[in-house]
Amino acid sequence: ALIITDDCINCDVCEPECPNGAISQGEEIYVIDPNLCTECVGHFDEPQCQQVCPVDCIPLDPDRVESREQLMEKYKLLTEAS
Ligand code: SF4
Ligand code: SF4
Repeated sequence: ALIITDDCINCDVCEPECPNGAISQGEEIYVIDPNLCTECVGHFDEPQCQQVCPVDCIPLDPDRVESREQLMEKYKLLTEAS
């Protein structure tokens, strides 16, 4: 999963771009629900939020490193559930 750092300027550009609805406005900055973030695997070649963020504040979360297979598995579970 990706994570939003405190460089976030609350511009709201990323939220509508997320195909999994993983991004929301948190108490101080925008936040990503790691259980919903597939790093865009299953939807797009590149993480869409990273593409649009004007301040580049959405790196990989070092505490939530996942393989492509794990991300694809998460994508399948999420799409089956919806
Ligand atoms: Fe959403 Fe993709 Fe960004 Fe994850 S990488 S938060 S799935 S837009
Ligand atoms: Fe924050 Fe970047 Fe999302 Fe804007 S696009 S709300 S700066 S994470």
